[in-house]
Amino acid sequence: MVLLAFIFGEGKMAKAQKKEIEKIPEVEALLKKMTLEEKVGQMAQVTIDVLTVGNSVYHTAEPVKLDRDMLHKAIVDYKIGSVLNTPNGKARTLEEWNYIISSIQEMAVNETRLGIPILYGVDAIHGTTYTAGATFFPQQIGMAATWNRELVRKAGEITAYETRASAIPWNFSPVLDMGRDPRWPRMWETFGEDVYLTSQLGIELVKGYEGDNNDVSNPYHVAACLKHYLGYGTPVSGKDRTPALIPDIELRERHLPPFKAAIEAGAHSVMVNSGIINGVPVHASYKILTEILKNELGFEGVVVTDWKDIENLHERDRVAHTQKEAVKLAINAGIDMSMIPYNFKFCDYLIELVNEGEVPMSRIDDAVRRILNMKYKLGLFDTPVTNYKDYPKFGSKEFEDVARQCASESITLLKNEDDILPLSKDVKILVTGPNANSMRPLNGGWTYSWQGDKVDQFAGRYYTILEALREKLGAENVVYVPGVEYKMDGKYWEEIPGDIDAVVKAAENVDFILLALGENSYTEKPGDLHDLSLSENQLELAQKVIETGKPVIVVLNEGRPRIIRDIVPKVKGILQAYLPGNFGGLAIADVIFGDVNPSGKLPYTYPMYVNTLVTYDHKPSEHQARMAGMYDYESDFAIQFPFGFGLSYTTFQYSDLTLSSKQLKSNQTLTVSVKVTNTGDRPGKEVVQLFTSDRYASITPDVKRLRRFNKIFLQPGETKTVSFSLTPNDLAFINDKLQTVTEPGEFEVLVGDLKATFEYVE
Ligand code: BGC
Repeated sequence: MVLLAFIFGEGKMAKAQKKEIEKIPEVEALLKKMTLEEKVGQMAQVTIDVLTVGNSVYHTAEPVKLDRDMLHKAIVDYKIGSVLNTPNGKARTLEEWNYIISSIQEMAVNETRLGIPILYGVDAIHGTTYTAGATFFPQQIGMAATWNRELVRKAGEITAYETRASAIPWNFSPVLDMGRDPRWPRMWETFGEDVYLTSQLGIELVKGYEGDNNDVSNPYHVAACLKHYLGYGTPVSGKDRTPALIPDIELRERHLPPFKAAIEAGAHSVMVNSGIINGVPVHASYKILTEILKNELGFEGVVVTDWKDIENLHERDRVAHTQKEAVKLAINAGIDMSMIPYNFKFCDYLIELVNEGEVPMSRIDDAVRRILNMKYKLGLFDTPVTNYKDYPKFGSKEFEDVARQCASESITLLKNEDDILPLSKDVKILVTGPNANSMRPLNGGWTYSWQGDKVDQFAGRYYTILEALREKLGAENVVYVPGVEYKMDGKYWEEIPGDIDAVVKAAENVDFILLALGENSYTEKPGDLHDLSLSENQLELAQKVIETGKPVIVVLNEGRPRIIRDIVPKVKGILQAYLPGNFGGLAIADVIFGDVNPSGKLPYTYPMYVNTLVTYDHKPSEHQARMAGMYDYESDFAIQFPFGFGLSYTTFQYSDLTLSSKQLKSNQTLTVSVKVTNTGDRPGKEVVQLFTSDRYASITPDVKRLRRFNKIFLQPGETKTVSFSLTPNDLAFINDKLQTVTEPGEFEVLVGDLKATFEYVE
């Protein structure tokens, strides 16, 4: 069967050639003039913190002030090429950004020999999150739940506009890591567990940032940075930046495709996975960085390290005996730029290594060409500083309306017993739970600051869940008793049990209880968990309000699915809000009272047990309800809610699943169409999801795979026919020779509750 298989790109890996990257005459002329010191300097990226007065005072309230001596040392003495981050770790106003970037560029352009502008980068990962007054969208996991390509694209466009308004041309986004393990604290930064959904939305975000033709010289566009290439997100322990074991077949089947798609969509840069795969730190992997990324995928852009990761090759990962050897390993593996050049030692070592013949000059030229090409394409040589006054739409109502729509379309209705939702507006409710009255958990991390702990200081004008509910019902009809609270304890936020008796008492006089549960914001390692269950405080609060006998509606506001098995059967309604951003409160209230009909769908499988984590695209043996007649026991892999699931206030019926042929041949296209009817009495949006299932293959096939989706809007009674085209390439998988193949045989197409079969023949 394998021999008959249609092989895509056979032998491509073996034949992958060193790629000649684009030669831009202006850049080539510059390269000819540059000394080794000037070239190596371009490869260094420092954090703005070291260039800021009072940088030891983290989160200082003082207006930002740059340190001229340090600026001189970095830009004139060490000739650095790039700066990142926000000063003192908190958001800045447009005026402050203008001062920061102008000061930096003036020194780079006027006081260095060649006048090369600095490339400034930030993590604008759900909006321009380090600029006060910018528009914030749901975090990527929520954007994925919208399953709406157009909204993801628009969010990208607005973020690009507002980032350029802040005079910053480079965005460390999108995250194309796979969110396949909820133990990993960065799951919320991903588009969830599915390869196709991640690839599709990744393309939209890249195009949103860079524009249709990737013309990043356009002052409304920024360069995207795909991160964290490759295989971040599935560490064995579940904890951030701990080792992963990923066989090549899995790396290519599930981790590489979103990066490949985004590179084909023209993305200008890539940030490297901080972790170790199969014992090899990715920052030292020639195979992953040069053979696969630069040669096989033909990536022509900039490869930047993650935070201090060259240093980590020596300090943490111990594959380099010295810091200097770490530099050699990383640069020879294919790194172009070092984020955090440890007190400029990176530059000193790299110069020595080139002079000693340990790093070839051709490697330096390749790296610097990539960096200068990007600066050139961004138009930085012509316009090193964009002026915020040219960006009148910054923070506008027009932009905020899009953010609110994104939040509304992300919210996923997971349970609605007895059609308890939507509620009518003449009720009295009790609001409780730690997530009810803070903007911080609504936004999650990387919001106004790294851990999101500055949110309440900046986001005052937006509505918490409680405030939004009061807006709908009138304050007199909404009683609030927190029950559990998040409190800052010196440096860390802690969850503090509150007065649960007071909650129970307050429940006496209301019709419904709204329980806002979930997680406080966190980013990276501080989000590592000992237990995926919802916290004991919150489960206890839930139990007590359930015991009051009043109908309970749970709003989950969390970056990853926390285990809620014990409360699911006992509450009437459950909404998953993810991390919906500054408009989350309003969006949640809109859904609760039916001003918005929910249309979000889970971008991951919601687990039921801590020890049973499984994705929808598992192998058949991974999810057996019964063991073939031998034992009659409950499923080992019971799940709480499936991937792609989400209820609506209306109902949709699928009918007439039709295939254009019973056979698909190579070079042919199969058209699949289905009719979808809104059979309820409200207008609503439905995500039509098409899966295929390969019946038999030379390696055990996944039970099914998402191949197409389309979000449609239907008036009550309306029917639409949705058509999708499939080619043999869409059915392909990676075989045990690491080839991309489609093997002949029977396939199933699954859409809604309908099924059809066809045969692939060559
Ligand atoms: C994160 C990256 C981020 C970088 C710069 C790192 O710690 O892993 O996602 O882009 O910091 O802020």
